[in-house]
Amino acid sequence: MNSGIITRDVPTASADDSPPVHTDPEGLTAILDNLDALVYVSTFDTYELLYMNAFGRNIWGSYEGRKCWSVLQNGDGPCSFCSNHLLLDHDGTPKPPHVWEFQNTVDQRWYQCRDQAIRWTDGRLVRMEIATDITDRKNMELALQAARKKAEATALKDDLTRINNRRAFFQFGQQLLHQAKRSQSPLAIIMFDLDHFKLINDGFGHEAGDAVLRHVGQLLRDKGRDSDIAARVGGEEFAILLPDADADHAIEMAHRFSSLFRESPIHYRDQEIRISASFGIALLEPQDSRLEKILSRADEAMYQSKNNGRDQIHLYPARKV
Ligand code: GH3
Ligand code: MG
Ligand code: MG
Repeated sequence: MNSGIITRDVPTASADDSPPVHTDPEGLTAILDNLDALVYVSTFDTYELLYMNAFGRNIWGSYEGRKCWSVLQNGDGPCSFCSNHLLLDHDGTPKPPHVWEFQNTVDQRWYQCRDQAIRWTDGRLVRMEIATDITDRKNMELALQAARKKAEATALKDDLTRINNRRAFFQFGQQLLHQAKRSQSPLAIIMFDLDHFKLINDGFGHEAGDAVLRHVGQLLRDKGRDSDIAARVGGEEFAILLPDADADHAIEMAHRFSSLFRESPIHYRDQEIRISASFGIALLEPQDSRLEKILSRADEAMYQSKNNGRDQIHLYPARKV
């Protein structure tokens, strides 16, 4: 870290000396100027800087006759994040130090700030801050946070289709189910399974099959509502959770995807692969408390579509729609 310390010879105790006592201002100045931290003092009412040690002067320049917000920050007035109001009780007595972390707007480094009201030489209460550079620790913390967030996000995404995986479907879906029950609003699940997918793998190769799955993922991402949860719940099996959707809405949505699949063949290495899917729809019922129940009804309806000849849509319990 570039501390900007101006080093001076500070008297040190030797074995046969009695310990020196530094009460002289010069000795104290030497100590303050050798600190690996910013120390400054400013007034509460005018924000004028009364003191800044060498660490601060080296980074933010001279302070004499200037305001804290113009020297230490990029501001053109008192800072919105100023902690002055936290340093005194309502009756004006100093409170314990206020400790916080902040990224300085001038040098962009992170500091842990210890702010407190102290009695100045002329008797008035003033603000003192001791700020230690914690940039390395903070950057590590932020990198760790970002990595954790990314790991969480990837743990919920399906690599191939870039939509939610089965785990995410249940995690988000269960929350939406509770919400729907609380607000007594409807909720629907559409499930579909690609027809004769094995034939695509066998006829065009496994990679072609992967391209088809990616294509389906893209359609689900592009053509669904933002509030819907689309997920790959099995090999070539998908589910869409539609919050606030009744049967008519879910049927319309299933037809939209069914047509999209039929009408958008996949172009794979000069070949055209045509696909279709068999759909099942189930609605939230009053006794449902688990998402699995609705999903298994949608699954049952989907198998009716399969057994009836594929490329069609059934609404649970047994209605072709
Ligand atoms: P149906 O119409 O009855 O659904 O027939 P199907 O051939 O689609 O169903 P089946 O269950 O017989 O075959 C599904 C195939 O999907 C078998 C499996 O190898 C394939 N599969 C599962 N996951 C993937 C994947 O990630 N990539 C590819 N390319 N194929 C996959
Ligand atoms: Mg299939
Ligand atoms: Mg299947």
